[in-house]
Amino acid sequence: MRRRVGKGSAYQGPFLISGLQVGIIGVVILITLLISAWNAIDLRKVLDHSTEEYLNDVTMHMAGEIGNTMHHKSEDLAMISEFAAGYLPDSFGAGEDTAELQNFLEEKAGVLEFNFLTVIDRQGKMVHTEVPETIGKAELKGMAELDCVRAAFKGRTGTSYLGGQEIIYSVPVYGGDGEKSVEYVMVGIRSKEKMQNMIASKSFDGQSLSCIIDSSGKVILSPTDLKPFLQLDDIFKKSKDGKVVSEIDEMRKNMRRGTGGILAFTSTHQDELYLSYDALGVNDWVLLTIIPSDLIAGSSEGSIWRFFLILIFVMAVFFIFLIKVYRFFSTGRRELERYAFEDHVTGGMNQAAFCLKYEELACKMAPSSNCIVMMNVKGFKMVNERFGIEGGNEMLRHIHRVLQRHIKPSDDEFAARNESDNFFLCLRDAEPARIRARLRDIITEVNAFSGSEAPRHPVAFRQGACIIEHPGEEITILQDHARLAEQSVEKKAGEECVFYDESFVKRLKWEEEMNELFEESLRSRHFRVYLQPKVSPRTGEAEGAEALVRWQHPERGVICPSDFIPLFERNGKICRLDVYVFREVCALMAKWERMGKRLIPVSVNLSRQHFREPGFLEEFSGIAKQYRVRTEMLEFELTESIFLDEEQIDVVKDSIHRMHALGFTCSLDDFGSGFSSLGLLKEFDVDALKLDRLFFLDMHSEKARDVIACLMELAKKLNVKTVAEGIEEPEQVEYLRQVNCDMIQGYVYARPMPADAFEEKYVRGIMV
Ligand code: C2E
Ligand code: CA
Ligand code: CA
Repeated sequence: MRRRVGKGSAYQGPFLISGLQVGIIGVVILITLLISAWNAIDLRKVLDHSTEEYLNDVTMHMAGEIGNTMHHKSEDLAMISEFAAGYLPDSFGAGEDTAELQNFLEEKAGVLEFNFLTVIDRQGKMVHTEVPETIGKAELKGMAELDCVRAAFKGRTGTSYLGGQEIIYSVPVYGGDGEKSVEYVMVGIRSKEKMQNMIASKSFDGQSLSCIIDSSGKVILSPTDLKPFLQLDDIFKKSKDGKVVSEIDEMRKNMRRGTGGILAFTSTHQDELYLSYDALGVNDWVLLTIIPSDLIAGSSEGSIWRFFLILIFVMAVFFIFLIKVYRFFSTGRRELERYAFEDHVTGGMNQAAFCLKYEELACKMAPSSNCIVMMNVKGFKMVNERFGIEGGNEMLRHIHRVLQRHIKPSDDEFAARNESDNFFLCLRDAEPARIRARLRDIITEVNAFSGSEAPRHPVAFRQGACIIEHPGEEITILQDHARLAEQSVEKKAGEECVFYDESFVKRLKWEEEMNELFEESLRSRHFRVYLQPKVSPRTGEAEGAEALVRWQHPERGVICPSDFIPLFERNGKICRLDVYVFREVCALMAKWERMGKRLIPVSVNLSRQHFREPGFLEEFSGIAKQYRVRTEMLEFELTESIFLDEEQIDVVKDSIHRMHALGFTCSLDDFGSGFSSLGLLKEFDVDALKLDRLFFLDMHSEKARDVIACLMELAKKLNVKTVAEGIEEPEQVEYLRQVNCDMIQGYVYARPMPADAFEEKYVRGIMV
């Protein structure tokens, strides 16, 4: 899986929530809310519809009930009128006894709940019960003229009303002798209160209001509170809302047709109201009922809104939670990216980021157009030792900044610190000369230290590079190639960048072979110990010798130490080889002792790899004991590079003490070949100092001669013996004698030689 790294990088872990996911969830929440809202509206419509149906039912039922009651009252009146015929006098003229009829009427009015009962003759004369206060004298007088009374004289029963909203029922009274002409009419009046009780709603918690009107809109019977109906009047007459006007028109038509209906409207007080109407079946009268809309739909609508609000709240909480989780993970992701891809010292890319960046860009690379360069700071431990860890880190940051200035991101170039003092660069160039020139510029700028707080300590680099021939190749393999090239660079200052090529593959193969041959050669004693004498320039006598290993392979011939020692140093095999050489030396010395020869001290080289195992000296001392060789006759040569290894300093110090405790001596080998410091002599208790041949290459220079003289003097003062290595010319010997060098090891006296040759030439009998 490829991931993007660098600025604006997006590390997409499988367990993390992305902004896109949050967006999608947000949209899903929004859609859910919209669907819920749509559902709520739909539910509201269904509810409205069922409310209307319910209201219609209730009004129809009430209208039917009221109509029936009115019919019953008419029937009651008709029944009384039949009985009343028996009490009728001949006429209502003066002198006629109407007392009996009056009594009858009084009695029946009480029983059948009429407030007023009267019988009227064609002349308008009346016999009646007591006149209630609500009926005025004029009304009483005009009663005979009422339409319904006239209709009754024509044989029709009628219902009408008086101004005070009393309902009048009128029936014809037929004479007892079977005559068919109507001479009398009976009129019954029911008071307003009784009617109001009748229409007072028993539904809707008593919160609805009903009234009876005729088709022209005239109020026949109103409830106690007329206000809503008065508002209705306002709306009916003044409303300009097209919908309301057409609904009212429709209502009027329905009322005239005698059918019912329902109408929703907003009162002048902004109350939502329902108006339900239905014909009573009496005249053109209609029952109107007004109900506040929230009375019915209110509670369920409230529930809908409550549900809706809770839904919004839950969704909002969920969404906020999601955003929080997203924020938490995105900061976590940034942290993670920082830890995973940022170098904690330089703040630039680390190895992981370098690899990912390469993977990202590899597909765009043309073959053999880019290269990977490794830059390894030489002796960086020295910087750390001198300037402390913070000084070292500042130096790494300084190098990083210079690299950043030189690479061209527009050409997809990038650089990273790999580990400790190693930097890797990916450059868009495959021409070694140009690359070397660029690297030279970089190193020059690093050493200029302009505007930098890094310690002004000159730094050199070992550089190896590898041209990317196949961009699809694993980056770690390309880095290994650059590293191999870098490791092949001689330990000389100012060395140019080495490019990886086929010879490295051959070398790798060869090294593999060497490794395979090692075990067998060790068993078969293909490793031979050669000895080179250390001669005193004063006496010309060999006062010591150095054991140097040679690999004499039966098929491959003699293999030089410089070919296999570095390899075995890298893979740790050197330790077993050193023990082998030490055992051979002990065996040799034991033999010489047995032969009664005069022993001279023999030194063996001790690789730095031994110091990884703090108790390693015990094995050497055990071998010496086994061969009964006096340990004073044995010396360990330690290369100076070992003293620069910060982590091993204490182990080295302890080991030198232990060597002395066991009786061995030790010398500091190759002094002057690298970063030698005189401080080492003071710090480490060595017995001899082996000056590298580099010191003596230019003996003509006075300065070089003075340095040598000074060193000799200093060593004398510190009671450290001096050995000059690689001396080839007699003139060198002459000068070394003058400056009191203790011993000389070099071709001028002898090359390293097989043990028996050495024995013959330099090992003498005690008596000789
Ligand atoms: P060294 O310890 O510095 O050994 C001295 C090297 O200088 C030897 O190379 C020797 O042959 C060479 N030499 C001596 N006199 C002269 C001279 O006058 N002129 C020149 N040009 N060279 C001279 P050699 O034997 O090839 O060994 C190379 C290195 O391999 C040694 O350097 C030593 O570091 C390592 N080495 C050899 N044998 C062993 C061993 O048994 N164990 C370990 N750990 N290292 C070994
Ligand atoms: Ca040596
Ligand atoms: Ca040496």
